Amino acid sequence: MKITILGCGTSTGVPVIGCPCGVCRSSDPKNYRTRASILIETVGKTLLVDTSTDLRVQALKFGIKRVDAVLYTHTHADHVHGVDELRTFNYIQDGPIPCFAPEVVAEAIRNKFDYIFAPRPNMKNWVPNLTITPIIDNLELFGLDIIPLSVIHGDVPTYGYLFNRRVAYITDCKELPAETKRWLRDLDVLILDALRFAPHRNHMSIDEAILCVEELKPKHTILTHLGHQLDYAQANFRLPSKVELGYDGMIIEILEKNK
Ligand SMILES: [Zn+2]
Ligand SMILES: [Zn+2]
Ligand SMILES: [Zn+2]
Repeated sequence: MKITILGCGTSTGVPVIGCPCGVCRSSDPKNYRTRASILIETVGKTLLVDTSTDLRVQALKFGIKRVDAVLYTHTHADHVHGVDELRTFNYIQDGPIPCFAPEVVAEAIRNKFDYIFAPRPNMKNWVPNLTITPIIDNLELFGLDIIPLSVIHGDVPTYGYLFNRRVAYITDCKELPAETKRWLRDLDVLILDALRFAPHRNHMSIDEAILCVEELKPKHTILTHLGHQLDYAQANFRLPSKVELGYDGMIIEILEKNK
């Protein structure tokens, strides 16, 4: 399984439009952050987690040639508003793309994008051709065991995903409920929200994320959904060992364990 961090930026992206701060004017490519999303490649299939506002740019930059399925974490704009870019993959693949999310998220996506999921007959050629299926408990897809895990992220029902019980992607969260933590102990890789050093109402700060890491003890942690308050080199230097900031284009290879 190969994971690419397509985007590790918070909802505004970094640089923030019009911002004169040092990070927004930085020439370090690791300070250029598109909206949060990952791509998982396994057995020749490509699974996208969220359709970020920057999906088109990410697909061009990282040469994404197909999208075989999409998982959604929640309905905030930065995670879903690139959905129309899936149209291009419909053309390439000549068929519908299956999308999956826990029922409450699936229902909200169906409502938010009714022009996609209930298109008028004369619109059919102009909108993405998608199906959306609720995940009950877990999902087996392309040989992956995928478990959605509920997290606390303000008022919006939000989930992270656990893959093969070894790797978790927990973007956008302020707190992990005990039931979710139960699944997240001793992972190989934890990809976790950490917006900035200062606390935030709906996102973990760097210190809150580090407390989680100390409790859950993953072998390797990558922080994501990063704001323009974090200069890559300076902030990364301050992190404990085995915890690092993500960057757009970061690749994580998970080797099959010998059975
Ligand atoms: Zn977000
Ligand atoms: Zn800035
Ligand atoms: Zn969010």
